[in-house]
Amino acid sequence: MRLRVTPHEERGEDLPVPSQRPRRLRRTAAMRGLVAEHSVRVQNLVEPMFVVPGSDIRNEIATMPSVYHQSVDRLVEDAKRAAGLGIPAVLLFGIPEHKDDRASGLADPQGPVQRAIRALKRDVPDLLVMADLCACEYTSHGHCGLLSGDDTIDNDRTLRLLAEGALSYAEAGVDVVAPSDMMDGRVRAVRHELDRHGHIDTAILSYAVKYASAFYGPFREAVASAPAFGDRRTHQMDPPNAREAVKEALLDVAEGADVVMVKPALAYLDVVWRVREAVNVPVAVYSTSGEYAMMKAAAANGWLDEPRAMDELLVSCKRAGADVIVTYFARAFADKLAKAR
Ligand SMILES: [Zn+2]
Repeated sequence: MRLRVTPHEERGEDLPVPSQRPRRLRRTAAMRGLVAEHSVRVQNLVEPMFVVPGSDIRNEIATMPSVYHQSVDRLVEDAKRAAGLGIPAVLLFGIPEHKDDRASGLADPQGPVQRAIRALKRDVPDLLVMADLCACEYTSHGHCGLLSGDDTIDNDRTLRLLAEGALSYAEAGVDVVAPSDMMDGRVRAVRHELDRHGHIDTAILSYAVKYASAFYGPFREAVASAPAFGDRRTHQMDPPNAREAVKEALLDVAEGADVVMVKPALAYLDVVWRVREAVNVPVAVYSTSGEYAMMKAAAANGWLDEPRAMDELLVSCKRAGADVIVTYFARAFADKLAKAR
């Protein structure tokens, strides 16, 4: 049975007028700006950079427009431009010349990451240099750790490798070591190794909450680190879990992490919020290659207004409670602000 609704004019009465009018505060751009609860500052952004062996190399990564594989010389020039726009920090990923099953390139003082750290600290000294620490870019099998006989990752042997890698970064002058491997106990192992060698001021930004996610796809192409067999579900977190994320974050803080990170961003902003509520250290979020690639692809097709989508993505991270945002949009965002001035 359908109810017949009598129009209010016929009933001879008016609808009640709204007693609250939140739209008053949205009336003009000035008003909206005045009452904005969150904003993104360039000072909170970290730009990921990929360093390759050789010289005079700058190749755009096919699935990540405006992101490049660069040799140290070109990377330093690029980093100067980033610093000139006010970007405070870069996060380095290395693509080594050779890979082997022991990831021996990870702690090589002449590896691309170590060379880039030294060059950046020499030529762009005010720029904070962070370096990702994981075995998967250096292992021939593409796994994040050393394998035991049955092809599972040997957690505790991998800790020694990570500690050596962290020490080599610190000796090159890195400001922040960023372990991304998700091995148990690695923050403590890295902190111990750094302190033992006097690197007491080298900070640790831990990928405390890193999910086994499909949103890393383009990155794996960028660093050629897709596992040769199996996947990363035995060490990275399972997407349905959020309570466990708090546990991982608290463990890393207890082990000595200076900053804890959640990765990816968009599909996990609830997790960022939970971690923010649980810890008293800065929280970072990593907006992944997959998030970037899907936005760039949609924008290239004219399906999305890229600058607005970028702003929304970044402010959503702040709204969720992130202090620091690692994003492939860092340069575009800083550029946009510089041009608006
Ligand atoms: Zn890895």
